[in-house]
Order: sequence, then C-alpha cells, then structure tokens
Amino acid sequence: MKRKRRWLMSIVSLLVLVSALVLAVSFRYFYKRELLPWLPPNQSLWSWRADGLERAPQALFDFLQYKDSDRSRKKLIAMTFDDGPYPLYTPLLLDILKHYKVKATFFVVGIHVREFPALARKIVAEGHEIANHTNRHRRERDLSQEELRGEILGCEQAIFDVTGERPRCFRPAGGFLTEEGILTVQNLGYSSCNATVNPGDWWQRDPDMLIRSSYRGRSREGVTLMHSGALGIVRALPGYINALKAKGFDFVTMSELGRQVGRPLPDLPQRTHIPTPSTEGPSPGLGSPIPEADDEYAP
Ligand SMILES: [Zn+2]
Repeated sequence: MKRKRRWLMSIVSLLVLVSALVLAVSFRYFYKRELLPWLPPNQSLWSWRADGLERAPQALFDFLQYKDSDRSRKKLIAMTFDDGPYPLYTPLLLDILKHYKVKATFFVVGIHVREFPALARKIVAEGHEIANHTNRHRRERDLSQEELRGEILGCEQAIFDVTGERPRCFRPAGGFLTEEGILTVQNLGYSSCNATVNPGDWWQRDPDMLIRSSYRGRSREGVTLMHSGALGIVRALPGYINALKAKGFDFVTMSELGRQVGRPLPDLPQRTHIPTPSTEGPSPGLGSPIPEADDEYAP
C-alpha cells in the first residue's frame, strides 16, 4: 500500500514537473511572439525589463495604446518603410505596392535621397508619402539637440531639393526619442510618427513569421514598421498585404491615417532659412543596407 502511494506520488510529481515545463516553454514562446513581437530574438522579456524602460522602443507605448478596445474604428494599416531609398530593394517594394494598389509611407534618410534622387522621385510619383528619418540616420543618443535639429532639417532639405515635397512626419533613427528630443521635433513643426507594430524585419528572414507577427494582436488601425533594405520584407509583402486585406484592413499613408482617426497631421511651417546639412561624422554607408544583428530595435 505504502509502496503504491509512493509510486503515485512520484508519477504525480513527474506530471506536475512536465506540465510546468510545457507551460513555461509555451509561455515564453507565445508571450514573446504574440504580445511582444518587437522583441529581438536575442533578448528575453526579463532582460528587457532589467534594462529598464528607457531603452524600450516607443512602439511599445503606442502598441499598448492600440489595444482592441475601440470597435467603432476602421481597420487601417499604414505601412512604413524606413532607411531608404536603396537600389534593388526600394524598386522591388514599389513594384509590389503598385501591383496590389497599396499606398505606403517611406521614411527616408537624407543622404540616400541625394544619392538616389530618381528613387526618391519614384516614391512620390507613385503616390506614396515621403517622410523624414534624419539626414544620416544618426540616433539622438549620439547627438546634441542642436545636432538632432540639423539632422532633421538636413533630411527635410534633401527631400525638398529632390522631390519638391515637404514631409509632415518624422521618425527618429533607432525609434527612440527623449522628452527633449520630442520637443525638438515638435518645435520644427513635425508630427512624431512611430510604429505600433514591429514585426522585426531586420532580423526575421522567414516571410511566414513576418506575416504572422505583423498583424498579431491587431484588429483596428496601426502603423507597421518595415525597412527599405530588408529582403525578408520584400518576400513577405505580397502575403502580408493579402493576409491583412482578407482580415478587412485598408492600407493608407500616415497622413491619411491621421486624417481618418481625427488627428490630421499639420503641414510643415514655412522656413525662412534652412542651414546646409553637415556632412561630418560617419555615414550609415550603402555597403550594408541590412542593419547589423546587434543593432537593437528599429534601425
Ligand atoms: Zn531607421
């Protein structure tokens, strides 16, 4: 009898142990992938917490604001492509968008606009919105506020010189701005346009995973962060567009999204003098359009 009970006890403890393990593994997998799709693969939820909120992308805070609470809203997605224009990838993206009759927003880098003016003009000519992503993709943490201002104005001037457009949206390189940086952006008349969905296309190469993490947890409007220099997103884009269309989403530009959710983006104020952009310091370079693996968060 005693022996039987002991056997039973060990079987029960074994079962508890196995189920705890299964739960822990699935929690880790689903929690990370379902709720926090912007988490880089080499970072766990715990290490992210330990690093503190300061390093978290703003996308998180927007992400939390965009819960599925408001069912009255339309299903709108503003697809955004950062860092270009790049040869090869940008024309491929443009062709796919044209094929599916989808308009998107391109957050461009000033020096790339000057290097590939035809591509910048093609973006505008095909009806997409062009937006400011700094002149040399410098992050705020590496800059003074005056330098950040110069980066924003430098990109603005490049866009204006090449396309004649005056962008309304600004997205910081790296996706993060301090309170001070947000003020600098606002004082220049820009709307800060961060993303609410971050499928991680700069590290995720599997198109199916990209498509799935792109709309997880989303049933109303959102802004998807993608990159002009990532081959994964080029492969995933047709499937992504089809998947979201099937779920009833419409694709719009950032300005259109702002208008439709009752927050129209203001035009940039007229500037009397835009200083010539500084060309000092390292440039992101075009040899490696795909950001390095340790480049955490939205590159
Ligand atoms: Zn970027």
